Amino acid sequence: MKLQIKKYGHPVLRKVAEPIKEIDGKIIGFASDMCETITFFNALGLAANQAGKTKRIFVAKNKEMFLVFINPKIISLVGVEIATEGCLSFPGLFGEIERATRVVVSAISLQGKEIRVSATGLLARAIQHEIDHLDGILFIDRADKKERKRMLSVWKGLRNCIPKQYGNI
Ligand SMILES: [Zn+2]
Repeated sequence: MKLQIKKYGHPVLRKVAEPIKEIDGKIIGFASDMCETITFFNALGLAANQAGKTKRIFVAKNKEMFLVFINPKIISLVGVEIATEGCLSFPGLFGEIERATRVVVSAISLQGKEIRVSATGLLARAIQHEIDHLDGILFIDRADKKERKRMLSVWKGLRNCIPKQYGNI
């Protein structure tokens, strides 16, 4: 089932998500819906908060493979790079955001196993972006002052130009 995405301004996007204690059928179903949703939007990742749930889970797409991260923890961040980034909670908005070049993250997989993922490039960026969501942090918060101001002003204008599939803001 495709999930409805909460847009900027919805209070759930500022909530800190709670750790998941048990991977039950509900969590598995939710992860599956999250994967379906990013496929629909052709996005690289989605965090639970964006679908209105304050649970520490996100999905990311790496090439054609889905990765599900439960209770993720950043082990290390190395290097710095600035690149263009978007977010399903701000459809149509892009900004230049500084992120670490390489990230190592530990998490629990959907099968309950501890996993460790070392990522660079787009996947590293997606992982940092989605973990931020679980802590109530949005990509505009990671932009420098001038870029944040520009992004917010573009966002105001975009509100009336959102493609229909994103729903109303
Ligand atoms: Zn996002």
